[in-house]
Order: sequence, then C-alpha cells, then structure tokens
Amino acid sequence: MTERIPCIREACANTILPTTAARTGGFCMPCKQEMEREERQRYIEANRRDVNVYAGITDPVEVLKIMHEPQVRDPLIRYVPYEKSKEEVYLSLSAEQQDQMKDYAMQRIRTGDEDNGKDILIYLVCYHDISLTNEIPELLEQEIYYPAILVKSASPEVRDRLLQQVNTDDENRNHILLMLAHIGDDVVVQQFRQWRQSPPSWACELYVAPEHYTTEAGWELTNDGQRRELFTTPSYSLYKATENEATKMAISEDSLLMLTPSAQGCPWCGSALTSLINLDVKHPALRDVSWHAERLQIQTCVICSSYGVVYMELDAAGEPLWSSHNVMPMGMDEIDLEDYGELAPDVGRQFRIANASRHAFHASEWGMEPSLSQIGGHPGWVQDAEYPPCPCCSARMKAVAQLDWGEVEEYGEGMYYMFICEPCQMTAVSYQQS
Ligand SMILES: [Zn+2]
Ligand SMILES: [Zn+2]
Ligand SMILES: [Zn+2]
Repeated sequence: MTERIPCIREACANTILPTTAARTGGFCMPCKQEMEREERQRYIEANRRDVNVYAGITDPVEVLKIMHEPQVRDPLIRYVPYEKSKEEVYLSLSAEQQDQMKDYAMQRIRTGDEDNGKDILIYLVCYHDISLTNEIPELLEQEIYYPAILVKSASPEVRDRLLQQVNTDDENRNHILLMLAHIGDDVVVQQFRQWRQSPPSWACELYVAPEHYTTEAGWELTNDGQRRELFTTPSYSLYKATENEATKMAISEDSLLMLTPSAQGCPWCGSALTSLINLDVKHPALRDVSWHAERLQIQTCVICSSYGVVYMELDAAGEPLWSSHNVMPMGMDEIDLEDYGELAPDVGRQFRIANASRHAFHASEWGMEPSLSQIGGHPGWVQDAEYPPCPCCSARMKAVAQLDWGEVEEYGEGMYYMFICEPCQMTAVSYQQS
C-alpha cells in the first residue's frame, strides 16, 4: 500500500498519493483548484477594464436602445451603468421620441425579437399611456396576447373581433378576456353584464366567472351592471429621497408621514401597529377621495397583515381603530415575534411624495421593476388582483396606495396594498410576495 503524504499548502489537512503530488507540485486537488481560481481572479482584476457603452450618447432614444440590447458577458469587462435608470430615461421622452421608440419596438417584433419589442411597448404604455390603436392589429396577428394592457387602446373593430374570438378560441380565452377587460368600454361592460346574466357555454371551463376578469384591469361590474373603478386617481409616486435630497429638505414638511409607530398594539400578536401612510386629505393625490378625517391614515400590523387582511375603522375623532370585523388568519397563533426585526425609527422620513402625478398604470406591471410605492394608481399586483371586500357593506374596497417593502427594509420583500371603503370609512391592508 502506497503511503499518502500531506498536501503542502499551509493549513490544509488533506493527504494525497505521491503520484498526485508529482502532478500538482505537492498540492491536493481542492487546493490546486482553489489556487487556480485565485490566479484567474487576480488576472481578471489586473486586466479588467471599464466600458461605457453610453459614452458620448445624449439622445434618450439611443440610450434606451442600448439598454434593451443584451450585453455580452465578459469577465474582463465592467460595464459602467448609465447615470439614470431605465424608468427615468423613459419618463424623459418627448412625444416624438415616444413615437420613435414605438416604431423601433415594432421593428424588433417584425424581425423576431418579440420579447424586447414587447417590453418597450409595455414601458411606453405604462409610463406614457401611449395609444397603440394602429399597432394592435399587427400585434394580434403576431399572436402577442400578453400582457393584456398593451391592447387597452384597441379600436372598436378589434374589440368586436375579440368579442367574437372569445367564443371560439379555447386556447387564448383567458388572454382575450383580460384584453377585453382592459379595453373596458361601454360595449365590453355590456357584454360582461350579459355574461353574468346568462353565462356562456365556455364559462364552466374558467376558474372564475367571466366578469371577475375585470378586476385585473382595475374595475368591477356593480350589482346593477355599471363599471366601477377599483383604484383611486391621480397617482403620485412615493420615492425614497437620496441622502443629498433628504438633508436638504426640512423635516417640517409634514403633509406626508410614513411608517410611524402607533400607540395601539396589535390584538393578535401584541406588537405596535404601524401607520404605513398618513397624508393630509387636502393633498392633490387625495383630490377624489372622500374621507371624513383631516388626514388619511392607514394603520396596520405589519406582521399580521402579511398573513391576512387587517381592517381598521375610524373612531369618533377620526382616528384609526382596530376593526371588530377583523378575523384572525389561521396559523397566526404560532408566529414567533423574534423572527421580525424592528423598523428603523427614521425610515419613514426618507420617503417623499412626488411633486407631480404620473399615469394611473405606471406601476401596474410589477415585473418591469418600476418604482412601485405610490398613492393612487392601479396596483402592481405581485400575484392575482385581490381587492378585499369591505366587512361592513361587502363591496370591493378601492386601492388607494401601495408600499414596496423592499424599499423599507434592507432584506424586505413583497408589497403592502392599502384600500379604503369611502361610504363606510374603513381601511384595509393586504400583502403579496413572489
Ligand atoms: Zn490541500
Ligand atoms: Zn400583529
Ligand atoms: Zn363599505
């Protein structure tokens, strides 16, 4: 039997065969591989260069084209990121530049790059609410049925064709119903109303009744068959100020307060309730919200509302109060508070409300990574649209705000959705994560 000899690398306890040692210069294989990896890393660090693919480019259309171009992965290249985010560049586009991007997207689709072409169109529709009326017939011809929001500006002819197709096209029925929901004009509302009265033969193949598809487009069919919006407008972004901006702005600006602890405790888990947002009702973001207190405060238990909907009502003084309608979700009694950290005391002060409103569907495509936190606007559902029923009047509650928890805590994730029922002056908070 051959005697094994120790690896010569310091602090390595492995032993190897003399034949291995002869091949590796005395090192064991793991050490040898580790040393090669380190060598490679040293080489990369010594030879890596910065490449700025945006150098000298000022036209935002050209910047965006580059942003949509897949980058060649090369360990020796470090790409310098552009000074603005994709979202910011899109928002800076003039009407003419939006048209240029639209034409470019269609060109990409025609040449087979459907994914990029579609992405560009989604950004243009969400951030600028551009019309695709002229492009939609071609998109449908290319069988681009998703996401349905792209089709919201369809012409009456296309709408009528979809109303026919939904009866026969088993494969795309889901997508067509969502497209119709996004078109959502009087004719579509009437059709959904008819389907509710006498369900079509294909309705039994769906998971939900046809009229429930409308909630994915932010509206519902009321009991008397009218269209009712399920989110408030206008939409204002809630963004985290840069450190610079944060120190410049005085904290005295108290029209918006966020993430402040409440004096009330959560009856389920015992931790303090949190006021997610607290905004002066005179703020333009709440222009169309009818609220009986001076401030719209949406409180919840951050822990418990990630398990189920938490409702609050207003007391006589207009202060939020834990609702007697709350029903403890299953499994709540087993949660361990030790698993949850405390919020940084000043985190709310880092948030600002934008000076100007943005389009209602700006944050609706969650997967496109827009800035999600907002007051007003269509929710960015991580999963399916889910508007909680008001426990007093059982109508669907309206979405009024959302907060991206990834912006709140370093390892935070998921989204808190805030809702109101104006007739009952109730608030609700729910949560979704991927
Ligand atoms: Zn070794
Ligand atoms: Zn709780
Ligand atoms: Zn109600």
